Parts: sequence; C-alpha cells; structure tokens
Amino acid sequence: MRPELINLGTRLPAKTRNNGHSPKFETDYNVIGLRGVPFSHQDLYFFKELHPHIGNTFQSGSEHSVDGNFKPMEIHMVFWNSNYRDIVHAKSKPRGLAVIGVNVEVGDPADDIYVEEQEKYNPLPPQHIYNKCTCTNDFFYGHVCRQLGLCRCSSDKDCPFGGKCRSLGRVPYCGKPHTCRVRYAHKFSQLAEKYFPLIEFPEKHASHRGEMRYLQVPEGVTPEDALPYDGGFYTYRGSLTTPPCFETVQWIMMRCPIKVSRAAYHALAMMRDVRGNFLSRDGVKRPIQRGLPGFPPIQVYRNFLWETTGKEVPFYDVSEIQKNNVY
Ligand SMILES: [Zn+2]
Repeated sequence: MRPELINLGTRLPAKTRNNGHSPKFETDYNVIGLRGVPFSHQDLYFFKELHPHIGNTFQSGSEHSVDGNFKPMEIHMVFWNSNYRDIVHAKSKPRGLAVIGVNVEVGDPADDIYVEEQEKYNPLPPQHIYNKCTCTNDFFYGHVCRQLGLCRCSSDKDCPFGGKCRSLGRVPYCGKPHTCRVRYAHKFSQLAEKYFPLIEFPEKHASHRGEMRYLQVPEGVTPEDALPYDGGFYTYRGSLTTPPCFETVQWIMMRCPIKVSRAAYHALAMMRDVRGNFLSRDGVKRPIQRGLPGFPPIQVYRNFLWETTGKEVPFYDVSEIQKNNVY
C-alpha cells in the first residue's frame, strides 16, 4: 500500500512564527490526511505543519543526505496519527508522527534534471542489474560469468549505459542512475519571501518576553507547496531532529529535490535563532546519524515502485481519485 495524501489540493488557513529554531507554517485544520504510512498502513495521519531547515554553509543545509549529497535546505512536513487526541499527545507515542522530508536546492525556476550518483543506504536488492556479464551481449559467456559469481563492477567504467557501480555491503553491481526533474516550488518561495522577514525572533509581535504570537497566513498552506514531482522515497523509523527527539517518527525522505528562490533562501538565512544569531550561523540541522562508527545501522527501506521520471503527481490525492471515479 503506497502512501496517499488526502485533500492535497486544499489550502488550509495557517499561521506562522519563528520559535527561535526554525520558522513554521502551522494549521489547526485537520483536513489534509496521509494514509499508507509505512508500518502504520491502517492509520490516518493529519497534516500539521511545514518548516525548513538550513545549514551554516550553502552546501550542507539538509539534514538528510540523499545519495550522499546534501542540499542547502531541507523541508519537513509533519503529520500526526489521528489515533491520538492531537499532535502534542501523538508525538511521544508509538507511530505518533510521520514526517515527509524534501531536500531543497536554491536557484532560478529553470528546468533541472537531478541525477542520483550513489545510493548510500539502501538495503533492498537493486531492481535493475547490469553487469560485466551482460555487457558481453553473449548469452553463453554471460551465463557462465553469472554462474561463477563474476557479475560485479569495480568502477563506473564497468557499467554500460551510464550506469553507476554501487556497493551496498554486497557484491558491487551496476545500477541505472535515477533521474528526476527538479520541481520549482513557486508557492513555498512566495510564502518564505513574504513571511520570513516579518517573523524575526524575538518575535516583533510579542507583547512581552516569552509570548509566542503568530502571524496569520490567509493564503494558507498545503504539503503540495513543497513536494517534488517524483514520488520515490526512502523511509525509516527514527526520531525528531530537534529535542526531545522522541523515537516516534516514521520518516519519508523524498528521493528527488525541489528548488526554491534565492530570495526565499536568504530570507531564511537572515532569521535569528534563540540566541539572536542568524539561523545560518550555526545551522539548524543535526549532523547525520547514520553510517558512523558506533551508531547502530538503521534499516532504511525505499519505495521506487512509482513512476520515477517527470511524473507530476507526487502522491495520489484520494479526493482526485474519487472525483475521477464519477465519470
Ligand atoms: Zn524538522
């Protein structure tokens, strides 16, 4: 069962503030749902908020490295399990939260193609295997080569058709590089450019210290503002990336990035953190927590069953499916 977003096309009235860690767009309307969350297939999650992370360098703002590459920013869309009363209760409970993460590039709205270079953490077997043996185009020798266990590569040069030699703790194999169109996130860029300069920390609108005041966002938000075209993702069970770091989050990390405007990036970079420093000075991202000595490996799954290239519907929207069924 693949994840489905419900009422994705609905813009929910929202509010925004900078809590000193990152600016957030939050909604109080439980309208946009997420079903089919890996390992919680039966549960319905509701969209609550969308927030970006930024690093202290342009090259390393995303919290996740997809295929080994960091991006200047990462956006998180937080959903909470409707089995619980609200997000406050859900976030400390088993399967309480699901977070969709998207890596974010910065630049002009031109069409870009993103090519994966390396699948760093993917424990599932490859779906398309090329190897030296099939390179020979010879049925007999190809067969013998496979039987002898020689089907492997030592570098990209061994791989036909622009394939990449990948090592995943098993026999290195030639994998087809995945490509996807980078979606330019117009709406998120507009929201960031408009609201981030208005919600500095400490909040301009606070009538006294410590009071968290929100700015209304009447044009509203939807996760669609920050989803890539491509529906492929990695998923794993993990924690929130900011304290208290409950181990309650099913992460859905999108394989393909989006892109936002330079003005949006700079508006975020110029915001202040709790100590009055620029968010970009220290960065509001944690260091990567996988693949380091001393850390247990995290089981990461992927879902690449969907169409992967140029597909412009990132998740199925159930309301769209129902609409289509009328005809
Ligand atoms: Zn986050």
